[in-house]
Amino acid sequence: MTTYDYAIVGAGLIGSACAKYVSQSLSDEKSVCLIGPDPPSAAERQAGSTRIAFGADDDEGRIVTCDTISDPLGAALARKTIARFGQIQASTGVQFFSEVGCMTVVGSPDQSKAVREYVDTLLASSYCRATPVRPISGRFPFLAGIPDVCCGVLASTNAGHVSPRKLVLAQLMLARRHGCKVIRDVVMSVRDHGDHYRVLLQSGTAVLARRVLLATGVSSVWPSLLPQQLRLLAVPQTQTTLLAEVSEECARSVLHAMPGMWVRDFWHNGGMDNTKLSPSLAYILPAIRYPDGRWYLKIGHGKLHDNPIPPEPQTIAEWYRSHDTAVGDHLHDILRSIMPSLLPISLRLDSCATLTTPTYLPYIDVLPGTQRPGTLYVATGGNGGAAKSCDEIGRLAAGLLVKGAWLSDLPRERFRARFIGADKFPPSSRL
Ligand SMILES: Cc1cc2nc3c(=O)[nH]c(=O)nc-3n(C[C@H](O)[C@H](O)[C@H](O)COP(=O)(O)OP(=O)(O)OC[C@H]3O[C@@H](n4cnc5c(N)ncnc54)[C@H](O)[C@@H]3O)c2cc1C
Repeated sequence: MTTYDYAIVGAGLIGSACAKYVSQSLSDEKSVCLIGPDPPSAAERQAGSTRIAFGADDDEGRIVTCDTISDPLGAALARKTIARFGQIQASTGVQFFSEVGCMTVVGSPDQSKAVREYVDTLLASSYCRATPVRPISGRFPFLAGIPDVCCGVLASTNAGHVSPRKLVLAQLMLARRHGCKVIRDVVMSVRDHGDHYRVLLQSGTAVLARRVLLATGVSSVWPSLLPQQLRLLAVPQTQTTLLAEVSEECARSVLHAMPGMWVRDFWHNGGMDNTKLSPSLAYILPAIRYPDGRWYLKIGHGKLHDNPIPPEPQTIAEWYRSHDTAVGDHLHDILRSIMPSLLPISLRLDSCATLTTPTYLPYIDVLPGTQRPGTLYVATGGNGGAAKSCDEIGRLAAGLLVKGAWLSDLPRERFRARFIGADKFPPSSRL
């Protein structure tokens, strides 16, 4: 039986990027595999299916932008990643990035100091070449519901949306090209067996590997995946999106110039509280063609509706197969308020989950407390925003896994994993 030098678990956005970098850096004698299931079929998203592993990579639209306000470290990961999109597209022929821009909608800068400062900071970031848009409906007539006092900040370069499915496809092509073996299965547990790990698969077989990296997204907190003492401190959270189907003509003519959108306090006319910004209300992706050939405009919520899910595999899988109609109704209300003349052909809800860490940064780390230090790794915790930063997270994880090196100027400590029972691993015990 083959014992791989490296096994990466989770063929999603981060795992596929990491597999690419690991395979590119290996000599012929070394071997690497990437283990993860195919994307779920429609039947596997229905009640009655026994599929247990899902990811946040199974969709056509994720917003790409990198304002520096929310977190400068997160923005740095995004910038490095966005800068490589063109190169990945060119070397695979897979087009996954649409540079249509991204607009942040806020209240009135005239009425709120907090809004004014926020807008000024966004405009000062030259990376995305942002410009103010006011009134918003003057530039985008289909956004007629947004009051004229509100301001949009439109980032027009290095911003837009990616198809996570196609991005994963491209990264897998590159990984395979450099010899990475892709194994389509679900990993149930990873356990130390002396000089290697035994990676038990749902099909009943096992993969053996000397070093293992987990990039399993929301499933990284499954209680039995890792030994008990290594349970990650991170919370799976619900995400509901509403997909509004529009005709191809509407998508191509009426909505053709639509950027991705982050919507903050647009109906407060400047904010209820003059000193603070409201939390994000919603994000909207322009009409995108899905694999069923139809065009959907998608709206998702801000933190308001992020609810924790217990970490058990069945509970997470059940969430993926359910629909939160109350949240769907709220999203529909927001969409109608912003785009009153939009008459969708159909509406449907989609459920997904994200993994939130207490630091709001991904964990990119070697795990302590194993029998063979420096052999078990993790790259997970996208905090609902890692589609735009996945390539750099994967590169940093690959550097740790293969070279034991942190290949970045960013402070490594900020990406350390935390565990349930925080005092188990004092800093001195970490590699
Ligand atoms: C509704 C929604 C909207 C989002 N919008 C944005 C956005 O606008 N912009 C943005 O940048 N980000 C966005 N995100 C977040 C982004 O999609 C995630 O941060 C990103 O996918 C995380 O990458 P990952 O590799 O950690 O996890 P994933 O991409 O979820 O990949 C994990 C992979 O592991 C596999 N897997 C799971 N369990 C196992 C197992 N036991 N064995 C083997 N394989 C396993 C899964 O099938 C999956 O392929 C959004 C997420 C959601 C849910």
